[in-house]
Amino acid sequence: MTTRLRSTPIPGTRDSYTGVDFNLGFHIRHYDLELNYRVEPNRLEGTANLQLVTWKDLDQLTLDLMPNMTVRRITVADSKAREITVARFRQSNDKLRVNFAETVPVDSAFTLVIRYAGTPRPRRTAWGEIGWEELENGSLVASQPNGAPSWFPCDDTPDEKATYDIAITADHPYTVVCNGDLVEKKRQSSTTRWHYRTRHPMATYLATVQVGEFQHLDLGGRCDAWVPAELVADARRELADQDEMLNLYEKLFGEYPFARYTVVVTEDELEIPLEAQGLSIFGANHMRTAGRWERLIAHELSHQWFGNSLGLAQWNDIWLNEGFACYAEWLWFEHRGRAIEESTRHHYDELAKKPADLLLGDPGPEDMFDDRVYKRGALTVHALRVLLGDAAFFEAIRNYIASGTHGIVEPVDLRRELYKLHPQAEVDEVLHAWLDNLELPEYPL
Ligand SMILES: [Zn+2]
Repeated sequence: MTTRLRSTPIPGTRDSYTGVDFNLGFHIRHYDLELNYRVEPNRLEGTANLQLVTWKDLDQLTLDLMPNMTVRRITVADSKAREITVARFRQSNDKLRVNFAETVPVDSAFTLVIRYAGTPRPRRTAWGEIGWEELENGSLVASQPNGAPSWFPCDDTPDEKATYDIAITADHPYTVVCNGDLVEKKRQSSTTRWHYRTRHPMATYLATVQVGEFQHLDLGGRCDAWVPAELVADARRELADQDEMLNLYEKLFGEYPFARYTVVVTEDELEIPLEAQGLSIFGANHMRTAGRWERLIAHELSHQWFGNSLGLAQWNDIWLNEGFACYAEWLWFEHRGRAIEESTRHHYDELAKKPADLLLGDPGPEDMFDDRVYKRGALTVHALRVLLGDAAFFEAIRNYIASGTHGIVEPVDLRRELYKLHPQAEVDEVLHAWLDNLELPEYPL
């Protein structure tokens, strides 16, 4: 499966949101990670096989990897046309730099085999600690936006999607949950090897490994959960609507983009739930308060369409993820009987009390996860619904989703689908008011 390429050029050589330099000159098509994880010393070691194809002649390349993950050896496999040899490599400034013995020509396909080991720990960022995090009894990975290099060498930018095989060997009695399908589970004397495969292209920040002592919970339909034993009854109650939510979103947005949807509940408390491709991670606290987190249970599921299947070309467009996911919360409540205007009016009034100094179309790194991105983003979606009317609006949204499935999207992709069903000038007027101005537009009626 090929990933649709972005329609705008690469914006320079550095991600203006994460501050990380792009790794230019190649695409990674597939990651094959074969890892051992020992829970007690929090020790991760193994091999990352990166299937690359070059898009220009390369004497050297860079990958993203945190310094606590030490590379021991890099070799080249599967090079078809000619011998490719790694001359040397070094790690500095959160980058792994690989120099080749001779120039690798454009359009070369080969596999970099990277052996590495270390104590994984989260990356400290302006958005908190992200990436691989040790828990009281296990670990979790939540990498948005740039935590993936905390546990594997990668090209860590949202528009570079790839497929994955992730195999992790861990001690008994731990369960390992990753993205995709469990293709093999092999018990050895004191360990089990869990092998997951992701057939659909995935952004690095959505790759995840959850390690804990879990029980499996069937939530009906295509939904299931992995839950600590003491939380099974709570999770069964709190997640009772998960399958109904999936069916509602499928009706509104089109076919669920993955084979299954899995919820992982950690023994630890988590400040916020976290999204990954094909699964979401909730804390113990989110299961203990009856009904309080219903909106986030819906929100995280909707990210499977908005954010995971439809990936971002650049973080500037974060509202395409969070605006739609927040609106999906209100659509769920609408389905349950609360008029959409009740949600939109309430949040519009709340937003009107806050400073109008956030540009939704490009909020900047400091405000990319600001609550106003979510609420103003959702109200933008609602303004489009009011403009087009329900039938045309949902048709446009389904077309937008269908055209971007398992690829990446930009605002221009949404505009294109809206123009097909409504005069362009009116669509542009609404989007301009909500995205490109600081001032809060009038409430959409
Ligand atoms: Zn979200």
